[in-house]
Amino acid sequence: IERTLSIIKPNAVSARKIGAIIQRFEAAGFSIVACKMVKLTEEQAQGFYAEHKERDFFPRLMQFLLTAPVVALVLEKENAIESYREIMGATDPESAATGTIRADYGQNVTINAVHGSDSPESAAREIAYFFAESEVN
Ligand code: ATP
Ligand code: MG
Repeated sequence: IERTLSIIKPNAVSARKIGAIIQRFEAAGFSIVACKMVKLTEEQAQGFYAEHKERDFFPRLMQFLLTAPVVALVLEKENAIESYREIMGATDPESAATGTIRADYGQNVTINAVHGSDSPESAAREIAYFFAESEVN
């Protein structure tokens, strides 16, 4: 059984869609292993998305992540990483498949409602970024 790290991003928190989005996770068969609401600091946001720090959109992404708290969750399911990316949808909500979370709650390619880990290595790093060992074991 596999785990992935999900973030419900500031626009979805501000739009009061935390419950609706968590309902989709549970309906899709994910178990919630851990969950916390965090008001990210600039340092935390930069560290989380460090792989993108040279990209032109990075300042926009940082600014967005500081507009409201986020909800970080550890989700568990068979094939969790791929399965989550399916219900999340493509990065740009305009291209995301009908019925995906980003198609329904994303505004644009930056303000796109949710994050999901993209590999077992990033899932391990991202889970440890938000949760202590004792919170996830
Ligand atoms: P995430 O990592 O948030 O789950 P993702 O894996 O679909 O999304 P990444 O390429 O990892 O996409 O980009 C990380 C985040 O940076 C995106 O979710 C989005 O908020 C922002 N982003 C990515 N590409 C662009 C872009 N071309 N223009 C503006 N913002 C972007
Ligand atoms: Mg990514």
